Amino acid sequence: MKARMIAIDGPAASGKSTLAQNLASALDYLYFDTGVMYRAVTLATLKSDTLVKDEVAVTAIANELDLDVQPPSNDDGRQCDVLMNGKDVTWEIRSPAVDENVSQVSMYPGVRQAMTVRQREIGLRGAVVMVGRDIGTVVLPEAELKIYLDASVEARANRRYEESLQRGNPVEYDVILKRMRERDRLDSTRTLAPLRPADDAVILDSTKLSIHDVFEKALALVEDVTQQGEA
Ligand code: C5P
Repeated sequence: MKARMIAIDGPAASGKSTLAQNLASALDYLYFDTGVMYRAVTLATLKSDTLVKDEVAVTAIANELDLDVQPPSNDDGRQCDVLMNGKDVTWEIRSPAVDENVSQVSMYPGVRQAMTVRQREIGLRGAVVMVGRDIGTVVLPEAELKIYLDASVEARANRRYEESLQRGNPVEYDVILKRMRERDRLDSTRTLAPLRPADDAVILDSTKLSIHDVFEKALALVEDVTQQGEA
């Protein structure tokens, strides 16, 4: 049996997206980052007159959201194009304002319900590497391989800081660290679909590993699953 569905969960900046992208391209699978969906709902909320704390209105936005994810249209470091109502919002959904509000938005059951249905539909088609916080536990519990990628909060904040420098839009390390701690806290303590490893997930810690090392370890896990299926 080949791992047709691969779930990768973990906190912000643990290296999930990079790993998932590398795996997807090695296996010729679809790479799907579910975080962009929660980010897009948050951006749509911030752009409207809606208050982030207005659960009913935010849920309506989530249900009506016209969102599309396409292969990257240019090489400015993006992993895909995120289109909201036909407009390219790939970088806008990564803004500090979205970072600060996305955990609140993603706590609402109606928002999660709307996103989970869309994610399952795509995931169940197979040949997919799906990334998020609750893929192994809620979205695709039937995934043949579940990886929970972790790293220390300092290492993760440092990665985001370096990225902000590279993008020519530096944000202070301490500010990033503080916001990341808060996002971790909200994501892992929410009642519905909290950030946590599935019981059958393999936990990898990327604090001291290079991107290549993490990829090699994950690829070995894919091979293990394939061999178990053939045995
Ligand atoms: O992965 P990323 O940092 O882009 O995710 C942004 C936010 O979206 C997370 O902090 C979390 O609140 C939410 N999220 C979620 N469930 C997922 C993916 C993301 O709640 N499957």
